[in-house]
Amino acid sequence: MSETNDQNPGNIDYMTDSRAIAVGENLPGCKKRDPILVADNVTRNFGGISAVDVEHLEIPRHKITALIGPNGAGKTTLFNLLTGFDTPHSGAWTFEGKDIAGVSSYKLARMGMVRTFQLTKVMGKLTVMENMRLGAAQQPGERLSKALFKNIWGGREREITKQADVLLEKFKLDAKKDDYAASLSGGQRKLLEMARSLMVQPKLVMLDEPMAGVNPALTQSLLDHIKNLKAEGMTVLFVEHDMNMVRHIADWVVVMAEGRIVAEGPPGEVMKDPAVIDAYLGAHHDVDLGDAQGIRELEAELEADEESIVGTEDAGIIAPEAVEAHLEEEEGR
Ligand code: ATP
Repeated sequence: MSETNDQNPGNIDYMTDSRAIAVGENLPGCKKRDPILVADNVTRNFGGISAVDVEHLEIPRHKITALIGPNGAGKTTLFNLLTGFDTPHSGAWTFEGKDIAGVSSYKLARMGMVRTFQLTKVMGKLTVMENMRLGAAQQPGERLSKALFKNIWGGREREITKQADVLLEKFKLDAKKDDYAASLSGGQRKLLEMARSLMVQPKLVMLDEPMAGVNPALTQSLLDHIKNLKAEGMTVLFVEHDMNMVRHIADWVVVMAEGRIVAEGPPGEVMKDPAVIDAYLGAHHDVDLGDAQGIRELEAELEADEESIVGTEDAGIIAPEAVEAHLEEEEGR
């Protein structure tokens, strides 16, 4: 599925679009045909350690990009810098052509750039639905107090509640919407955090280790959701250590080591790159960079998972038509 025609005038199917991602060779820092995020000379030191030193990086629009690298490579620090959760020593970066260096994470969310965390930041003492409303509060015109106290909200409330209902149903959290978020499992919290970030209808979704700590029974669901984000025209950038996952869903891989970008390209190509193998072997000797066999096993496992009903053929996660259909269905009851 793709976006509506207004947003997708070329009517491109993002799942099958096979046009080249890079302009020219797949080298570290290479230019992209259609970048959504562009960073230049971003540096961050901690004491004497250069945690991030990225000369140039472009994230391709409508693609799933994996940011990989050994422990301590600077992936999370780069995420923090790009999303306004940390301040660099130097650097400039743009989102959709707009300069966003120094812009707060709150404003970035309003502009359509959201992130999730390695350790989820859902609010345990709020219910699942209240967490979703907080996500909506990042939208222009919404305030936290209004988000939580729906009676004084007025016209937007119904629409936002329905959006939350649709998302919670998609993420199979609807039965838990009145439960405290603290009662959810680690994997369910990850799903809730992803669902909540979608309340702002973002263009770029940045996920920091979405699979970490997730029960295998929920892995399929998370993978499908990530693929669905692309199907609906969103761009995804995610950090992940599981290389079979990376090979399975990423269109493009950016490799960091010691703060720098050391390789970029499609997953199969990048994981054969000697610079990447060196970077990993320097850090751990038992690393599994994933292989065709690993992917086949993963695919077979996923196929056999009968619980998996959220495929890319699905009606969509945040498409306005999905909310509309849900509203009509409710009214017909
Ligand atoms: P991992 O895969 O283990 O999460 P990473 O690639 O995300 O690692 P970062 O967490 O960004 O790496 O860390 C990059 C470097 O910066 C590491 O050497 C780390 O020890 C250091 N670092 C990160 N945050 C801080 C901090 N707040 N204070 C001091 N050093 C830090």
